[in-house]
Amino acid sequence: MMKQNGISVENYTPILIVGTGISGLTAAYYLSKNNIKYTIVTKKNAPKQSNSFLSAANTRVPSENEVNNIINLTIDKCGADRSVIEALYRNSNIIINFFKELGIPYEKTSFGIMPECLIKSHGGKKLINCLLQHIEQPMCNKILIHLEKYDQGIIAIFYDTQSDQFIRIFTNYLVLATGGYAGQFCFNDNSPGSTGETLILAKKIGARLKGMSTVMCHPWSIYNGRQILLGGVVSLSQGKIIDEDGVQLLKDKYICDAIARDDYHEMIDEILKFQLECIKQKKDMYLDMSHADENVLNEKFKKYGFSPKVVKNKRIKITPTMHYSSGGIEINANAEAINLNRVFATGEAQFNGDLGIGRIPGQAFASGIVFGKLIADKIANEGVFNTQYQTSFKDPPETMHLYSKENNDFPIEEFQKKLSTLMMDLIASNPPVVSLSFLRKKIQESQNIILSRARGSGKRYEDILTLSFGYFVAMEIIEDLEAKSGLLSIQK
Ligand SMILES: Cc1cc2nc3c(=O)[nH]c(=O)nc-3n(C[C@H](O)[C@H](O)[C@H](O)COP(=O)(O)OP(=O)(O)OC[C@H]3O[C@@H](n4cnc5c(N)ncnc54)[C@H](O)[C@@H]3O)c2cc1C
Repeated sequence: MMKQNGISVENYTPILIVGTGISGLTAAYYLSKNNIKYTIVTKKNAPKQSNSFLSAANTRVPSENEVNNIINLTIDKCGADRSVIEALYRNSNIIINFFKELGIPYEKTSFGIMPECLIKSHGGKKLINCLLQHIEQPMCNKILIHLEKYDQGIIAIFYDTQSDQFIRIFTNYLVLATGGYAGQFCFNDNSPGSTGETLILAKKIGARLKGMSTVMCHPWSIYNGRQILLGGVVSLSQGKIIDEDGVQLLKDKYICDAIARDDYHEMIDEILKFQLECIKQKKDMYLDMSHADENVLNEKFKKYGFSPKVVKNKRIKITPTMHYSSGGIEINANAEAINLNRVFATGEAQFNGDLGIGRIPGQAFASGIVFGKLIADKIANEGVFNTQYQTSFKDPPETMHLYSKENNDFPIEEFQKKLSTLMMDLIASNPPVVSLSFLRKKIQESQNIILSRARGSGKRYEDILTLSFGYFVAMEIIEDLEAKSGLLSIQK
């Protein structure tokens, strides 16, 4: 125990895994199998709070005949890095062995496998529950808020939301398994921890971020973004999207017809632009189900597990929702961060792709499992552990300045809403470079306001941290859009 610059606890661990989704738990599982000591932490109060737990765990496993096609498709259509994708799909036998070792029965799906479950969407729960029985007990309530490099590894500072203390952990190897940043948007179907702060921290110590403007936005969701509506339900509306007074909002007949045929995927960008305009004009959107057969409607809703209460007066209130983010830390074929020794990035925290929807379905679970094993193998083969570390400490980081026992009247929610609208605008409307530099200035101003005014402890401090990192994420999205538009003008 020590007290220095507000840090009250100090620890050493040879390997520090941050994140308890499929990617963090799999890395832990294979390290445990190799009898290598590690510490695994999450910011939430239970290890099951992750996107992985919410997921169906439909995991892509290409057959031998398909593997070249899948690799090329992922590179050409999603913009993934060749060496990483080769490492992923040429090692996908790891996935089958993983399910077998854990004793999890699986069923074949159109592109891979998923755990056999009574309720199909519970595959993630089954996998996570099982993995938790095979690994070290995760430490909960610890938010990673700062990283520093030292000769033998990394220093990580956490805020413990339960004990209200700062903790410094020295480690030789850091595994960032912290998921994506779709949770920074106000409409999203993610677990609340998906806010992307560790990508920003990794960049500050030398990692490269790529593709940050590639976020998959799904156009149809209910419960304010929390649950995605499937195409078969949406098409019952015949593409009629109306406002509260029943006035038709979507006027493009071509798009309406495509929605009616459940064949609108090429038009997602146009649909999102239309939805963003409605949000800006504060118009609620409803799928008009008035011409759908009552029995068919009920049947569909039961089948997909939606509450019939969602349909009121034959209308369903909808919003677009952010489903996953594809930008992240650039890695090599061993999942090591480019430019950053002894740091690994796995799962949604990795850069997955920057074209189209950024990654193909089922890739998230496949990469979490395959890279979890490759990381553990690499550390088992080459691990250099050295418990020597410096105890001197630089100035407390910016994130610690936001902490104070005394709260103030800073309007966090108002800033959160504005930031989320701005980010949605960036993703859906791809603004020109001139407006990007204007938005950049606005973001900097808001960030400065937060640094000078926002203070708090506990949950309030957590919200302020998330907001403050949200501005950095928005800045990264702008940087990526600028880079892309630079590329476009060169290509022209
Ligand atoms: C509803 C739904 C269904 C899906 N279905 C599928 C599917 O069938 N197949 C598929 O392949 N993908 C699916 N996906 C996507 C997939 O679930 C995710 O991409 C994947 O689970 C990400 O796993 P992960 O381990 O990288 O991160 P996550 O599961 O998101 O876990 C991140 C972990 O990091 C922790 N963390 C984050 N920041 C910090 C911090 N600062 N300090 C400490 N801890 C931190 C979080 O608390 C959490 O424990 C689905 C997603 C959703 C939302």
